[in-house]
Amino acid sequence: EKKIKELYEKNSISKDIITKITGKAHVLKKKGYDTIKIMNFCGTHEWTITHYGIRSLMPDNIELIAGPGCPVCITPGHYVDLLIDLSMEGYTILSYGDSYKLPGTRLRGIRSLFDARIHGGDTRIVYSFLDAILIARRNPSRKHVFFAVGFETTMPSTAVPLYNKVVPENLLILSAYRLTPPIMKYLLEEKPEAVIHGVIAPGHVSAVIGSNSWKFLPEKYNIPTVVAGFEPIDVLLAIYYILDMMDKNEPKLINEYTRVVKPEGNVFAKKVMSKVYEVRDAYWRGIGVVPKSGGYHSRDYLKHDLYYNLGIEDKPIKDILPGCKCPEVTLGISKPTDCPLFMKTCTPSNPYGPCMVSSEGTCRIWAENLPLK
Ligand code: SF4
Repeated sequence: EKKIKELYEKNSISKDIITKITGKAHVLKKKGYDTIKIMNFCGTHEWTITHYGIRSLMPDNIELIAGPGCPVCITPGHYVDLLIDLSMEGYTILSYGDSYKLPGTRLRGIRSLFDARIHGGDTRIVYSFLDAILIARRNPSRKHVFFAVGFETTMPSTAVPLYNKVVPENLLILSAYRLTPPIMKYLLEEKPEAVIHGVIAPGHVSAVIGSNSWKFLPEKYNIPTVVAGFEPIDVLLAIYYILDMMDKNEPKLINEYTRVVKPEGNVFAKKVMSKVYEVRDAYWRGIGVVPKSGGYHSRDYLKHDLYYNLGIEDKPIKDILPGCKCPEVTLGISKPTDCPLFMKTCTPSNPYGPCMVSSEGTCRIWAENLPLK
């Protein structure tokens, strides 16, 4: 901790911001704020905070908590089960690397696409949806499924090729896309135990949906909100802005990441997404059904939809494994170290729960960036 503080003090900008944060935290403590909880939505912000030791710089009354910003962590387990089965039945399953080790709902046997590959299933990692298109085109007699996991950041990567009609017929998509503002609304409405005084809103997502998408946080819930970039200085500035708004009792939306994020976002991407996907209520792993939070193929694109082609229902089943506290970690109610399995049964090389799989998962980030405060 001492060494981290010394490093930050060598840089006049970070030193200045930390001094201001400390001053504001002191003022707020005098006003009765013994604990100020600031939630970062995005897994990459959590990585910056943990990797660069930002928690250890915070005054005692400031707690930085991780939020639901890991799409792999909340992807329903029954999707993985279905893809494992299909990989054994003649389909080629194409997945991003961070979903490859995601466990399904089964406790024993083949638990992930990675396991399926070992047991003879045809599962492969791709770096992009365009890779999936190329693989499917090269093997026209075989059916392929792309596992589309992500938030609004990755939705355009499938929406644009579908819209441009360049996706071959033998490539189906399991759309696991989930939308970020609805989960924040759900958290604030349905989980009163998750106390949040300020929000660091996601930078990458906001580049697509626009910073204005987060206006509801200050306007409806009085929560100071800052859309921030991913450098330590960005995060420190966001914390300072939140404390400053709290001190002045003027909750607003501030866009700190103006070098990337526009108020209206990426207008073209949003237009294409609205044509290819329709928004419906959707299940989040271990959390439940969140209103208007899922991106599902609209009618014109159903010929590429996996569930539609199989003629089966997308029906969630219990998908949090015994002992795993991932839903509470995802909603900022628990920390990874509150889970008795953390770094015992559940490790980055052998993940038991979904929050230990992706580099955006809070448990994985904490596991790889110890020591912790
Ligand atoms: Fe779940 Fe593993 Fe995290 Fe525990 S450490 S909450 S088992 S992902």
